[in-house]
Amino acid sequence: MDFEPVIGLEVHAQLKTKSKIFCGCSTQFGASPNSHVCPVCLGMPGTLPVLNKKVVEYAIRMALATNCTISPESRFARKNYFYPDLPKGYQISQYELPIALHGYIDINVADSHRKRIGITRIHMEEDAGKLIHDPKRPYSMVDFNRTGVPLIEIVSEPDIRSSGEAGAYLRKLRAILRYLDICDGNMEEGSFRCDANVSIRPKNTDAFGIRTELKNLNSFKHVEKAIEFEIERQKEIILDGGTVIQETRLWEPERNTTISMRGKEEAHDYRYFPDPDLLPLVISDEWIETIKEILPELPDEKKERFINQYGLSDIDADVLISSRELADYFEICVAKFYSPKQICNWVMGPVLGLLNAEGKTIHDTPVSAEQLAQLVQLIEDAVISGKIAKTVFEEMAKTGKLPQTIIEEKGLKQVSDTSTIEKMINEILADSPKQVEEYRAGKHKVFGYFVGQVMKKTKGKANPQLVTQMLNKVLKS
Ligand code: ADP
Ligand code: MG
Ligand code: ZN
Repeated sequence: MDFEPVIGLEVHAQLKTKSKIFCGCSTQFGASPNSHVCPVCLGMPGTLPVLNKKVVEYAIRMALATNCTISPESRFARKNYFYPDLPKGYQISQYELPIALHGYIDINVADSHRKRIGITRIHMEEDAGKLIHDPKRPYSMVDFNRTGVPLIEIVSEPDIRSSGEAGAYLRKLRAILRYLDICDGNMEEGSFRCDANVSIRPKNTDAFGIRTELKNLNSFKHVEKAIEFEIERQKEIILDGGTVIQETRLWEPERNTTISMRGKEEAHDYRYFPDPDLLPLVISDEWIETIKEILPELPDEKKERFINQYGLSDIDADVLISSRELADYFEICVAKFYSPKQICNWVMGPVLGLLNAEGKTIHDTPVSAEQLAQLVQLIEDAVISGKIAKTVFEEMAKTGKLPQTIIEEKGLKQVSDTSTIEKMINEILADSPKQVEEYRAGKHKVFGYFVGQVMKKTKGKANPQLVTQMLNKVLKS
């Protein structure tokens, strides 16, 4: 029997506001434990939450960017459960009336094919604190700095059909959040978290199978591997005549497996109810319009423009728009030196090659956009050849020096002086009577040998066009 996976993802994105969602405490990551707390986020009795307007603005940005309908009126609800990292005994979230519903994003799947993935809902909520289990101590500790840090949860429709699509969806979602500048998208630090719901069903059937929910997926690789593992596990159960049970499972990266965490019976009943301390949230059309106006160009729009304006291929455009900063780098270069294709080759080749090798992003590039543009200009002006430029680039990355300085210090300037080249050609031809004879006898392949000799003599610095031109002239005379 052939099976088809059905996957829906729940993503928690930590918003980059300066202060928490219901109090004025800082959201700064990495502060000493319990230094960013106050009676409100510590859940003291008698305190009252006050909604941070920036959080709502950021949620609206995401809702607009993912084509959602924004609710004119939404509500905050209490999600009740006990846990040591949750001092109030409930988390303020949204339940029946979330801020946004029914959106979608498009992802690229195999062969540059586009697929639309539905967004069920987006809601705002507060984060919980963090428990620290130190094996050297006989007790656990709790840090409440994260309590009340704003999150949005983005729930997808079960439209995803493979681990690859899940990865593409998450990358797209993260790129949008970063373009909007509302979440740093760091999965390892937990500012972009994902739970995956996975089920399988016989191919060409409509009814959904029973799903499991996978937790502890803190990298793209883990998400993809956990989903693949889970699909196989469920297939085996069904082929053995069993039934999958609805449960929450934990991904164990060290053992490459998922283990049961809690079953349906143990599932929480959160007793959601509208939070009486917070008024219904009313969002005016004017406010939505104001936010729409300041929305930046988003990944899909930028890609379209890069293809149309610069004549880039689909694949090149995809890489260049993968982050706003990389796209900006490319465009700064192009603005200084108008040859998009050439700049694209430099960015896709040496620049990204260097960064990938060192596990860095364009943010840490040792060669600025301006410097790269200068380098490409020097090739264009025939000061250096494209080949020498690669050496100069490596030196720029290593030393941070300007291309002109390196060329001068290392004497890399291209030899474009006709008399020098002509003298060399004559010497080479005199030293290679056999090859000259072959050439004259019609074996034109040896032409490349002569070019090679000139390059060798000049350590690659001869202007290649000029060498070809002059060799032709001398050999034909
Ligand atoms: P819960 O609140 O229990 O997490 P939801 O109905 O909100 O349940 O669904 C959570 C996620 O599970 C959504 O992303 C949804 O698309 C996905 N989902 C629902 N049913 C299935 C299924 N049968 N197989 C795979 N994913 C599913
Ligand atoms: Mg869930
Ligand atoms: Zn506080």
